[in-house]
Amino acid sequence: MKRVLNKKVKVRDIVFGDKKPIIIAGPCSIESREHIINEAKSLKDMGVDVLRGGAFKPRTNPKDFQGIGFEAVKYLKEASEITNLPVVTEVLSEEDVEKMKDYVDIFQIGSRNMYNYSLLKKVAKTNKPVILKRGFSATLYEWEMAAKYLEDGGNENIIFCERGIRTFETETRNTLDLAGAYILREKTGYPVIVDPSHGTGKRDLILPMTRATLSLGLDGVMIEVHENPDKALSDGAQTIDYDLYKKVADYVGNFDED
Ligand code: PEP
Ligand code: MN
Repeated sequence: MKRVLNKKVKVRDIVFGDKKPIIIAGPCSIESREHIINEAKSLKDMGVDVLRGGAFKPRTNPKDFQGIGFEAVKYLKEASEITNLPVVTEVLSEEDVEKMKDYVDIFQIGSRNMYNYSLLKKVAKTNKPVILKRGFSATLYEWEMAAKYLEDGGNENIIFCERGIRTFETETRNTLDLAGAYILREKTGYPVIVDPSHGTGKRDLILPMTRATLSLGLDGVMIEVHENPDKALSDGAQTIDYDLYKKVADYVGNFDED
C-alpha cells in the first residue's frame, strides 16, 4: 500500500512499517525459564520476527497469576540470546524502566497504562522502540495523544497496537477496531499492528483476524502462543497452539502486499 506518511521503526534487522508484515508471538506470561526458552526455540523454527512474553502481568483479579516479575525479564533476555530474536515485554511501573532497558528490545505499554503519562515520559527517555497498546476505552484521539507524550519526550520509535476496545458486545472479549487501526495508520504514518488475541479473546478468531489485518495493509500482528494453551497460566482461551501458529506464521510469511 502506498502511503504519503510512512514512518519506519527499526528493531535490530526488523523494520516495522516496511512492506513485510511483522509477526510478534509468544506466551501471555513467562511461566519459567525453561518455558520461555523452549517456546522461543520453537517459534524461531516456525518463523517469528519478535518474541513476546509477559513478566509483570496486569491482572484484573489480584489473586490471579501476576507474572514472575523481573526474573522473567532475565529469562526473556536469555531466550533472546539463544535464538537471536528481538524481544518485547510490558513495563508496568516507572521504577522498572531503567532496570529493564538493557534487557529488552522493545518496551510494551499495556492497555491499562496508555493513560499513564508519567510512565510514557519515562519510557520516552530511553529512546527504545515502544509498542503502545490502545487503552480499552480510548478514542483514537486519546491514543494518538498518548503517543505525543513519547514524541515530545524525543522518542519517535512508536508502534501502535490495536487490541480491542470495550463495547456493549459480550460475544468477544473486546471489540477489535480494525477500522480505527486503519484510520490511525493513515493519519499518523506510524506503524500499526493488531493483537487479535486480546482483541477477541478467542483462539478460533486469530487466523481470520490476522488475514483481515494484513489485507488492510497494516504492519503486523501480535499473537499469544503456548505449547499447551489449556494449561497456560493466563489467557488460555485466546492462546493458540503450535499447529495453529504455524498456519498463521505461514500466512504472514507468504503475504504478498502487491
Ligand atoms: C499483553 O499483551 O500481555 C497484555 C496484557 O495486553 P493488554 O495490555 O492489551 O491487555
Ligand atoms: Mn494476555
